[in-house]
Amino acid sequence: PLVLGIETSCDETGVGIVRGHTLLGDAIASSVDEHARFGGVVPEVASRAHLEAMTPTVSRALAKAGVAFEDVDAIAVTAGPGLAGALLVGVAAAKAYALALGKPLYGVNHLAAHVAVDQLEHGPLPKPSVALLVSGGHSSLLLVPDVATDVRTLGSTVDDAAGEAFDKVARVLGLGFPGGPHIDRAARSGAPDAMAFPRGKYDDGTYDFSFSGLKTAVARWVEARERAGEPVPVADVAASFQEAVVDVLTRKALTVCRENGVADLLIGGGVAANSRLRAMAQERCAAAGVRLRVPRPALCTDNGAMVAALGAELVAAGAFPSALDVPADSSLPITTVTV
Ligand code: ATP
Ligand code: MG
Ligand code: FE
Repeated sequence: PLVLGIETSCDETGVGIVRGHTLLGDAIASSVDEHARFGGVVPEVASRAHLEAMTPTVSRALAKAGVAFEDVDAIAVTAGPGLAGALLVGVAAAKAYALALGKPLYGVNHLAAHVAVDQLEHGPLPKPSVALLVSGGHSSLLLVPDVATDVRTLGSTVDDAAGEAFDKVARVLGLGFPGGPHIDRAARSGAPDAMAFPRGKYDDGTYDFSFSGLKTAVARWVEARERAGEPVPVADVAASFQEAVVDVLTRKALTVCRENGVADLLIGGGVAANSRLRAMAQERCAAAGVRLRVPRPALCTDNGAMVAALGAELVAAGAFPSALDVPADSSLPITTVTV
């Protein structure tokens, strides 16, 4: 079946068209430039941008996939979590398309979609897999016996998400928004061991993360430099901060794999685009005998293909479609794959 997926949980209007595990075409429109001067996503601005971008983005995705609207067998849409007003635009559009086409609607979990998208690149996800989900709003370690029906939380951040820490540290360093890609780039010319920044919950015996102490330590270090009238070595700070985050993420992910006897690790979410995370995960997985899967960077950050990928998985699993009055749920828990 041909599944059209719609994503509007944050500032990307994404549409993807998938058949099974094959991505036929996708398109994306972003309002990121409209939010940049505020240093964060402004919900009302994002909602309006989704409204304007929805129809043209759907048309572009269909054209890229070389299919007609009538060919679509099911509609999938992010039902949550995310910004309430932004989610509403996608959900309303998806309901209209499903009703007009007379096809089933699947309201799906954005976080499970960050996991499912890897199937478009690397084929069926081994059952079970461990997933390290690292994004702008979440940082969790998941046990995934089946991405369509059974996603379990083993641990998550007790304060900031990894992506949030990247964004906040980038702001302290005077880099642009969102900060992750800027830190990634700046870090390439810096020394990862220039400063010893704290690694929260490194050896605490849990599967949880904490990044707010690290973020504060970086901010204090930079402020002290500025107060002393000394230049801030941006590349070194970026590299040392990034190393601390990546060290903790990969260490805990491999501990989960070892302690649960799982030999397949997937990394997903926007932070999975980070080049140092990808490299360190590769090294440590190879050393531990764990198979690693990370989708290409464009599939890590928010997109429509991930929603279509999870929709296709639900169709294949024989899941019940959602009711046409399905609500958007801004705080949908990761364990609820479809609503
Ligand atoms: P969530 O998925 O939790 O709802 P979101 O959808 O807003 O959050 P994503 O698009 O999944 O977030 O990820 C965005 C985050 O990824 C931002 O915090 C951004 O800084 C971070 N990010 C993107 N690219 C990189 C990179 N190369 N290195 C580090 N972080 C990155
Ligand atoms: Mg975004
Ligand atoms: Fe996301």
